[in-house]
Amino acid sequence: MLNINNLQTSVEGKEILKGISLQVNAGEIHAIMGPNGSGKSTLASVLAGKESYEVTGGEVSFDGKDLLDMSPEDRAREGLFLAFQYPVEIPGVSNINFLKTALTEIRAYKGLPPLSSKDFLKLLKDKQEVVELKASLVNRSLNEGFSGGEKKRNEILQLAMLEPKLAILDETDSGLDIDALRVVASGVNKLRSENNAFLIITHYQRLLDYIVPDFVHILYDGRIIKSGTKELALELEEKGYDWVKDELSAAA
Ligand code: ADP
Ligand code: MG
Ligand code: MG
Repeated sequence: MLNINNLQTSVEGKEILKGISLQVNAGEIHAIMGPNGSGKSTLASVLAGKESYEVTGGEVSFDGKDLLDMSPEDRAREGLFLAFQYPVEIPGVSNINFLKTALTEIRAYKGLPPLSSKDFLKLLKDKQEVVELKASLVNRSLNEGFSGGEKKRNEILQLAMLEPKLAILDETDSGLDIDALRVVASGVNKLRSENNAFLIITHYQRLLDYIVPDFVHILYDGRIIKSGTKELALELEEKGYDWVKDELSAAA
């Protein structure tokens, strides 16, 4: 589904990603872990098409198409979804209209007509239950005045409504208390299927107690320096990032 080959990117002339390669197949959950500043959000942003990042090398294909060639909107229409580390408040845009517009766009791209109001509201109600989000929040402006946990759950509501092929969650767990964390994780677990894939970016192992990844990759200074299965996350939690660094310099 996603094939990243030697991706290199710079921001304002500074090299951030220094050659990332990663393959994600349908049905898989990959976790990307790494210390602050290692390039996790940069990777997420480049995949989503944020413009301030310059790709200086490498290729990314998504379902066989050249992802880097597509506008951010087309990436979303193709089924790529990014849940933000810091969801943006958009006063004046109601959450429900935002969801309806996004869903209509994605359906149109697939050649499907817009849902009727009745069907849309039914779908919304079902999905709100998945993320245990108060009904009143969909009638408010997008994220405006939402608590940290509500913003993150609202990101998962968008995910549930839009049913992307590939969902990237950028530190959705940071700042969440244990109940919100559990809700986010159970939302992801309900939505995962053989046809979609998840890239879960996290700084801590905690989330991975609830969402069990098939693969874990450690991003350090713009490179994936180690990959493994879920045990790698536990080892990392126990020994810290210095352990991987030391192992790396011993090998060099
Ligand atoms: P992480 O998400 O792993 O904490 P980021 O991808 O946010 O790391 O950042 C990686 C590095 O890129 C950091 O050194 C950060 O300061 C730098 N960086 C990210 N975005 C910008 C930007 N817009 N301008 C300048 N430097 C940036
Ligand atoms: Mg960070
Ligand atoms: Mg980040």
